[in-house]
This record gives sequence, C-alpha cells and structure tokens, in this order.
Amino acid sequence: MNTVTRPRILVVGAGFAGVDCVRRLERKLAPDEADVTLVTPFAYQLYLPLLPQVASGVLTPQSIALSLRRSRKYRTRIIPGGAIGVDLKAKVCVIRTITDKIVNERYDYIVLAPGSVTRTFDIPGLTEHAFGMKTLAEAAYIRDHVISQLDLADASDDPAERAARLQFVVVGGGYAGTETAACLQRLTHAAVQRYPRLDPGLIKWHLIDIAPKLMPELGDKLGRSAQEILGRRGIEVSLGVSIDKAGPEEVTFTDGRVVPTHTLIWTAGVVASPLIATLGAKTLKGRLAVTAEMCLPGHDGVFALGDSAAVPDLAKGQEGAVCPPTAQHAMRQGRKVADNVIATLRGQQMQPYVHKDLGLVVDLGGKDAVSKPLGIELRGVPAQVVARGYHWSALRTNVAKARVMTNWLLNAVAGDDFVRTGFQARKPARLKDFEFTDSYLTPDEVRARVEGAGIDHP
Ligand SMILES: Cc1cc2nc3c(=O)[nH]c(=O)nc-3n(C[C@H](O)[C@H](O)[C@H](O)COP(=O)(O)OP(=O)(O)OC[C@H]3O[C@@H](n4cnc5c(N)ncnc54)[C@H](O)[C@@H]3O)c2cc1C
Repeated sequence: MNTVTRPRILVVGAGFAGVDCVRRLERKLAPDEADVTLVTPFAYQLYLPLLPQVASGVLTPQSIALSLRRSRKYRTRIIPGGAIGVDLKAKVCVIRTITDKIVNERYDYIVLAPGSVTRTFDIPGLTEHAFGMKTLAEAAYIRDHVISQLDLADASDDPAERAARLQFVVVGGGYAGTETAACLQRLTHAAVQRYPRLDPGLIKWHLIDIAPKLMPELGDKLGRSAQEILGRRGIEVSLGVSIDKAGPEEVTFTDGRVVPTHTLIWTAGVVASPLIATLGAKTLKGRLAVTAEMCLPGHDGVFALGDSAAVPDLAKGQEGAVCPPTAQHAMRQGRKVADNVIATLRGQQMQPYVHKDLGLVVDLGGKDAVSKPLGIELRGVPAQVVARGYHWSALRTNVAKARVMTNWLLNAVAGDDFVRTGFQARKPARLKDFEFTDSYLTPDEVRARVEGAGIDHP
C-alpha cells in the first residue's frame, strides 16, 4: 500500500505517556492502518522516579534509560529531536533535530506528551545557580558536583571555604525533593569516611519548602515520619521558607538566614513543557485543557496527556479535579489515548480516562522509606519493599529490571566508589541548558515558518 495514503500519527515525547501510547499503537494497529512517528530528543525513556538514585550513585545512569528500540513489535519511525512548535490549523509540527536542523512534520493525528520542565520563579540568581532534578544529565552532573565539593573541601586549608563546600541546599518538599535530599545525604555520609581530613560534622544538608508540610499527599502521620527520618540523619528541614536570592557561593533564605554553599538543588514543582504554549490553545495552570478522552476541544485529531495536559480526574468525583502530574497517571493515559486514537481512526466511540490513584511510595535510601499503597500507611523496611517492588515491576523491559536489581544488590554489598567522572565539569550548568527551555518558537513564529514553507492554512 502507498504510505502517503495512510493516516499519519505523530507522538511527541518518549516519556511514560508517549512510550506507552506508541507501544499500544504498535500492538493494536495493523501495519497498513497507519504510520506511527515518534519525536524525541533522546533514544531512551527515562524512568524519572529512580533519578535521585542515579544522583546518589546507587544506580548507574544507563540502568534507568530504557531503550526505545527494544520491543518485539517495534516499527515506529523515530525522529531524533524536539518539537518546538505546533500549528494546529495546518496540522504541522515544527521540529528541531539534534543537529539543529528545523523540519516541518505533517500529521493527521498528534499525541502531545512532552511532559514538564522545572518550575522556576523570578528569584534573583535562581536560574543561573540552581540545578534541577529532571534529566539524566542533571542527575549525573549533580553527582559529580557533590563529590567534587568533598574533593575541593578536602584539598582546602581555608575553614570558610570548607564550610561552604560542605553545605547543601535542596528546595522542594515534594517527593522529588525529599528523595533527592535523602539519597544525596546518604552519598555524602558514606563518602566522607574516605576523606580522613574532613570533619563529618561540617557536612550539612538543608531541605526547605514554602509549604507548611512535607509531602502533604502522604497525610500528616506519614509526612511526620518522613521528617523524623530526615531529622535523625541530620538533614535540617525548614518549612514555610523559600529562597530570597541565590549566588555562586551563598543562598539567602526568606527567613533571613544566609547559608554559604556552592550547591542549590531546585525541585519546587514542575510546569508543562513550553511546547504547549506554542499551540495558542486554552490551558489550566499551563497544562493543555483537554477532555476526559484527552482530546483538545475544537481540534480534530489532537490529543494531549501526562504532565503537559490537564486531564480531568473522573475517579475523584469532584468538579474541576485534574489528574496530578505522576508517572502512575501518565503511563495509563498513554494506553487509553492510543485506544482513543485507534477508535477515531476506525470511526468508533472514544472512552474517557478513569483511574483511581494507587498511592505513593517514597524511597529515602537504605532501609528508610514511607509508602501509602492503596491508603495503607507503611514505614521502614515494609515501605521500602513496596517502594522498590513497585518501581522494579513498573520498569518496561526485562533488561532494565535486571540492570536495576543488579545495581541495588551490588550497592548493598559493595557500596559506592564515589568516582567523579568529570564530564562537562568546566561548563556552567544552568537549568535551561539541561531542559532546553529556550528552544521554543512563539505561536506567530510557528505560523510564519509553516507559511514560509508553502503549507496551506485552511
Ligand atoms: C525526581 C522525580 C521523582 C518522581 N517520582 C515519582 C514517583 O515516585 N511516582 C510517580 O508516579 N511519579 C513520579 N514522578 C513524576 C513522573 O516522573 C512524571 O509525572 C512522569 O514522568 C510524567 O510522564 P510524561 O510522559 O508526561 O513526561 P516525561 O516522562 O517527563 O516524558 C516527557 C518526554 O518528552 C520528551 N520531550 C520533552 N520536550 C519535548 C519536545 N519538545 N519534543 C519532543 N520530546 C520532548 C522528554 O525528553 C521526555 O522523554 C517523579 C518525577 C521526578 C522528577
């Protein structure tokens, strides 16, 4: 059959939502029913919930980067690059490839799953001096950076420099920030034993959040348990506090404290990918406003899901409730959206997305964890078994499962070697460089580019 006559399905983003959608399309669509194309800057799906364990060295980066090409039914065309704009009227997606070439990709159906980026605020010095925890490169960079602080403190005879290098600040008391602080504190606690010149008492971790509670979704009791565990490990938790300004060698808190530090990790929430703003369509707190079937009202063949879309949470039964930005929802939405694309292709009825939240697992490293599966509150080893069991079973490929399990076992038996790789060590590490937030076009630029290419606007 001539490929030109087949409907073209374009999926943007190879995260939890995008990959589950593509795999379902590959399984359920006959090869001559439609062409499936995936746009993604990376050749892997990142298992984000285990990212703090890469930063702390428990897992190697490769173990949570799941190959996109390892699948029995794999037949999707992959464009290596990022979508930088979408023209809904002309049905064109503008893509910047990894060689910086700009191409226009036409589609009949588009599934938008570009996820989210780190949410920042207008705080002086923040975007220049803070690291995020959203990409594999950031996690690997932070690990090197933290180990280099120990190396530099060890080599220095200046007490002020030593003190500054051995203080670390994490902003964000959600699960991402709490796990990051907890895992990295374990890294420095274990590493300092290999630095006999350093006083372990000088190492100090701060976890701060403007909210009055840590991880409020866990409930009061479990949230307090998590705080107690962190306190026992010497992590100073400050609630109701944020950052006033950030500099290269110090951070000023909103309560007036000035903390000398070279390490500021910013995990204070996420916001939908800037790609969504290029559509010029209605958004809810930055996420694309879609129906329960994950369709964009008024635009045939446009679907959005995951962190980048405000999908109504029908299981909550509350007017206006929207699914939280979690992997748990994104992967299930991916499968449902694939079913809905296929239903549209075949002229069948679409189904709404409904999923009751299964709860939350928080791995604080070692035997420390708090979990709330199906509303049951767990702490310590049982919580850790549930947390690791959940993540392990959610890894998509058996090879990834084997890599992660081997890493966990190896780390438990042999510990860490605290090797600093030195990759990118002399380049400034800014949020926008890791998350490419400055690559996108405005809606007018998208339109001009599409018109310039001679593509008609209906
Ligand atoms: C540290 C951390 C811990 C977490 N822990 C948990 C947890 O325990 N449980 C849980 O349920 N959730 C957790 N989450 C949240 C969860 O990871 C996200 O909700 C989930 O990844 C969202 O899936 P997604 O497919 O929408 O986006 P993502 O998984 O982020 O995927 C988006 C994909 O799109 C790609 N992309 C981005 N922009 C473009 C573009 N312009 N063009 C093409 N491709 C693009 C990205 O490279 C990425 O591959 C955690 C998140 C973090 C950061």
